[in-house]
Amino acid sequence: MPTRPGLKIGRILGIPIYLHASWVIIFFLITLSLAMQFTQEHPRWSATQHWTIGIVTSLLFFASVLFHELAHSVVAQHYKIQVVSITLFIFGGVARIGREPSKAIQEFNIAVAGPLASFFLYGVFYGLTRIFPYSEMLGALAAWLAFINVRLASFNLIPGFPLDGGRIFRAIVWGSTKNYVRATRIAGTSGKLVAYGIILYGAWHAMRGEWSAGLWLVFIGWFLLNAAQESVAQVAIRETLAGLSAADVMSHEVPAVEGHITLEEYGAEVLRTGRRCHLVLNGGRLVGMMNVHTLNAVPRNEWAHNSVQSAMIPREKILWTSPDEPLLRLLERLLSADVNQMPVVSGSGDGAPQIVGMVTRDSILRVMQTRSELGSLAPGR
Ligand SMILES: [Zn+2]
Repeated sequence: MPTRPGLKIGRILGIPIYLHASWVIIFFLITLSLAMQFTQEHPRWSATQHWTIGIVTSLLFFASVLFHELAHSVVAQHYKIQVVSITLFIFGGVARIGREPSKAIQEFNIAVAGPLASFFLYGVFYGLTRIFPYSEMLGALAAWLAFINVRLASFNLIPGFPLDGGRIFRAIVWGSTKNYVRATRIAGTSGKLVAYGIILYGAWHAMRGEWSAGLWLVFIGWFLLNAAQESVAQVAIRETLAGLSAADVMSHEVPAVEGHITLEEYGAEVLRTGRRCHLVLNGGRLVGMMNVHTLNAVPRNEWAHNSVQSAMIPREKILWTSPDEPLLRLLERLLSADVNQMPVVSGSGDGAPQIVGMVTRDSILRVMQTRSELGSLAPGR
């Protein structure tokens, strides 16, 4: 999946829509091949007509892809799942959702909405060719779009994760076995098989001399293979961290510094102790948090005449966790906020919140590594 969303082109239903840089390549290639196809099939049209219809058809193709992703998104939003973004890139579109669906039926409906939307568009464009049979240009445009939307729907229905068909497949296995992890493993494996199949099919085409079609298939297969492996890896993480909470991995020592010391002095403290994060106190009262990352954001020559208090993360901006927060969710929060550590706050019996420890990304990764090394020794596996 593209990691950087790219150029924001607008917002639909509150969802930001992005164009990834790789989209430009595919837009150019599709427009070019359409213009060539129209030149061959309609020699009486002018070159301007070939290119205009080519560009309009190409744009409508991407509108179709967007429509497909919006269909997934509307159903996700119906289940109160936030849609973070929709990105158009070289292999089509991807709608990123804020969390995985919590029920198999939800996943099924979200996944099936996309192909249904593409079949709907097939109907619309096919209808256009019937309603306006005398218009050659509209006919050429609509016929191609009808064809491509059917292709889009059928390709996406292939039962290999992370394609829609793979999600539908996972939802069915999940619903019938009530085991999300196992369902993902099975769908992930079928995704890998499908990907290898597409790669082999592409290689076969290439060997028969159809280079561009063959290489394109190999490329798509390779992309799907990566995506399938990634989703299986995510489930492995989920499984490793299952049942653990912040309290299990937090360190109980919470180093603190006084707010009035200079950044120079703070840097010396970090170097001396190797601790990378401190709470900042002012006369015993918590006022903020300081860490190496924040220190490095200040130019070195200003360290001597700036206090920790002037550079720290103020108290109200600190992200907290509680001892019983599940580790998986905590890790996701750490990653999405791009912070390395969070203080653990416990609301004690008498109401006054108290800092009881510190959780770092490293401590979570260490647990994951240890658990995967011990594997079968860990309880409950
Ligand atoms: Zn889809």
